Amino acid sequence: MDDLKLEAIIYVPFNFTEMFRCIVCKGYLSVPPIVSGNNGRSVCGRCDFLTHNKLERRNTIYEGMARIMDFPCNFNKCPSRIHWGEVEHHEKVCLYREIPCPKNDCNRVVLLRELVLHFYDCHDFERRPR
Ligand SMILES: [Zn+2]
Ligand SMILES: [Zn+2]
Ligand SMILES: [Zn+2]
Repeated sequence: MDDLKLEAIIYVPFNFTEMFRCIVCKGYLSVPPIVSGNNGRSVCGRCDFLTHNKLERRNTIYEGMARIMDFPCNFNKCPSRIHWGEVEHHEKVCLYREIPCPKNDCNRVVLLRELVLHFYDCHDFERRPR
C-alpha cells in the first residue's frame, strides 16, 4: 500500500466543499499554498501575493488532505471536478470562465463557451445559420 498511485480520490459533496473557501477571493481552497491564520480562516494560492508579508503558517495538514480530494471548478456552471495540482491549468482553459466581451464598445461579461453565440446575438456577427 505504499504505492502513491493507489491513492484514492475522494469525491467531496458540495455542502462540504463550501467550507473550504478562500476568505479573499471566495474561491475553493484548491490551489497551493494554503495559508491559515490562528482563527482557522484560510487564503488560497491564487491570493498568495497577499500573504507573503504575514507570518501566518502554511496549512500542510489541509494540503495533505486536499491532495486526495476532488474539487468542483471555481466557475459556477462548470460540471468538472478537478484534482489538486491541476486546478490552475483548468481555470485558464475552462469554457465556463467569465470573460469581458472583447468588442470595444460592449461591456457585457460572457461565458467563454458562449462568446461566439453572444457575437451572433449582439453584434450581428454574420448571421446565425438557420
Ligand atoms: Zn483566494
Ligand atoms: Zn471549469
Ligand atoms: Zn459583446
